Amino acid sequence: MKQKVLVAGGAGYIGSHMVKDLLANGYEVLVLDNLSKGHRDAVPHERLVLGNIGDRDLVETLFDQHAIAAVMHFAAFIEVGESVREPEKYYRNNFAETLVLLDAMRRHGIARFIFSSTAAVYGTPKQTPITEDHPLHPINPYGASKAMVEQVLKDFDSAYGLKSIVLRYFNAAGADPDGELGERHDPETHLIPLVLDAAAGARDAIAIFGQDYDTPDGTCIRDYIHVADLCQAHRLALDALLQGGEFNIYNLGNGRGFSVREVIDAAAAVTESQIPCRAAPRRPGDPPRLIADSTKAKRELGWTPEYTDLATIIRHAWQFRQRCMAAESTVSRTTDSPTPLST
Ligand code: UDP
Repeated sequence: MKQKVLVAGGAGYIGSHMVKDLLANGYEVLVLDNLSKGHRDAVPHERLVLGNIGDRDLVETLFDQHAIAAVMHFAAFIEVGESVREPEKYYRNNFAETLVLLDAMRRHGIARFIFSSTAAVYGTPKQTPITEDHPLHPINPYGASKAMVEQVLKDFDSAYGLKSIVLRYFNAAGADPDGELGERHDPETHLIPLVLDAAAGARDAIAIFGQDYDTPDGTCIRDYIHVADLCQAHRLALDALLQGGEFNIYNLGNGRGFSVREVIDAAAAVTESQIPCRAAPRRPGDPPRLIADSTKAKRELGWTPEYTDLATIIRHAWQFRQRCMAAESTVSRTTDSPTPLST
């Protein structure tokens, strides 16, 4: 019989790619999403349950009604800058509501959990590439809210036998290689989709947040990892847990960093467009350089990232962006068509 996975936040960017990946690999999937950020059309409608992970009654009812083998949790707020301005939102959603979900799992004997964590738990790293044993010193509430859940997961494992795998993503990017799914945040704050907006002429200029960092060109360096490769790692982690695997933590990145400037140049080449830029102050909460050492995930989970090249990552994101633009122009052509005047 197929194993059923509850994907919390399955209508969002990474979650929707995960749902597609699980279905293609023989899992049953149920999605719990409040659509605060996700998109209804990103998941098969018969699988979507509308609601919050922090709604105890709803979550308990789902666990009563469905034989859930494991939970994957993507339902989090993810904007570093916003988390600095509105920390309460991050601690409530990313921490307190996650605790409700975990407690309901514990009470229903659902003992396998895959957690989307982040490189932001490391803060400003002492050295790069970063390995999983690097100390955790988050420098923004987003990273802190994720580090707090990681601690809960360790303690729930020891006390209740709730087994988790924590996946610390570096910069998730790219889109479904088939072109069906992609990144659609509103408002968009992430570098690659913003740059592609500018390439498409839908945005004036890209603000480069800080040009005086201690990096070769002065802009921040990040490790961009393709969303399809993240999904592959989640599926391998799920298989490991379902086969009796223990609590573990893995970094997920490509092990190569690109500066903001390099990303903009790569996007200009892929899209064959000029990308206007302007200097802007540093964004609070941004460490200068984040690069993953993902040797452990490769060795222990058998993870083999497929789309490691930055140009490929950008090309897939661009393919999705262009598809959305074509769909929008069809809709606006239909709505703009003149309505016959009544006589
Ligand atoms: N960034 C930028 N301008 C933008 C958006 C992002 O210079 O309009 C920079 C940001 O400061 C960071 C990098 O691009 O150094 C990646 O930011 P993003 O928000 O995409 O991901 P994060 O690193 O916050 O997860």
